[in-house]
Amino acid sequence: MQLVRRAAFGWGASAASYAHPTRGLVIHYDGSDQGLARREHAACVDYWRRTRRFHMGANRGWSDIGYSYGACPHGYLFEGRGLDRMQAAQPTGNSTYYSVTLMCGPSEDPTPAQIDAVRELRAWLMDKGVGGLVKGHRDFYSTSCPGDRLYRLVKNGTFTKPASGDAKPAAGAKQQEDDDVSAKDVWGYEIPVEWGSKENPSWQAKSILVNAGQRLRNIEAKLDAQHATIKALADALAARDGSVDVDALMARIRSEIESVTVRLDVGE
Ligand SMILES: [Zn+2]
Ligand SMILES: [Zn+2]
Repeated sequence: MQLVRRAAFGWGASAASYAHPTRGLVIHYDGSDQGLARREHAACVDYWRRTRRFHMGANRGWSDIGYSYGACPHGYLFEGRGLDRMQAAQPTGNSTYYSVTLMCGPSEDPTPAQIDAVRELRAWLMDKGVGGLVKGHRDFYSTSCPGDRLYRLVKNGTFTKPASGDAKPAAGAKQQEDDDVSAKDVWGYEIPVEWGSKENPSWQAKSILVNAGQRLRNIEAKLDAQHATIKALADALAARDGSVDVDALMARIRSEIESVTVRLDVGE
């Protein structure tokens, strides 16, 4: 999950009151198209700051941005109020559900990366004991939110599927602070390998490490076997011809082997 914390925006802890939502997640949108999918990710950062200013300004007068989280078209998840806060998003569900707004409007479809960001948020919340229900704002209150396009995805279960994982943030999106890279993420990171097959061109880091260890042990076993074979040959030769000095022969073979330059053809 590409989580961008409040601190990255220079915001301290949320002043919103405490709540412990446990039921699930409510989907929101922006009432007007934002065109962020076509723009650099920096525009999403501006959008998130602007939204908070609007929510805290004269029009709303809230203590903080209204939502817990926001998912941008490049696949980043921005922290709003964050965990364990009352929402200012869906009256009658503000203390029982978390909220996430997709930074798109009525005639914009969410990007695959944006959908994945919501799925990852849901899975992450479920790890913390929150229920897996996903609802739309209009399930709580008479409103157009989250728009017909997003609401269709709420109803057909798009957001309750596991993240597809292949929806990487779009090229050009700058890497943001990400506090949530775990050891598991690192070991599961897929690296293109030159020995990969067409169907499986990239291997997880842990698979590469395990494979390298196996190959090394195979090489050691083969070397041991070769050494034993050479020794047996030298012994057989000595048995046939008493003039053969096995120790001298082995020493000579060993020095020949040691003079071989070991070349490692390491891929990029
Ligand atoms: Zn809404
Ligand atoms: Zn973005």
